[in-house]
Amino acid sequence: MHKYKCTICHENTAHKYMPMKQWELNDSILCGRCYSRKIHEYYPGKHKKINRIDKN
Ligand SMILES: [Zn+2]
Repeated sequence: MHKYKCTICHENTAHKYMPMKQWELNDSILCGRCYSRKIHEYYPGKHKKINRIDKN
């Protein structure tokens, strides 16, 4: 099984997500978590109250 490394968080992910063009992350691979976080950043109106996914 191939694994991919997320460009943003550098975590290995089994599923790669391609960023949208307007995110200016050309040729990047995102994990599901970073992808959904980006979605929330760019389309905050569609998904409210899910702004903070990351927990340290
Ligand atoms: Zn990530």
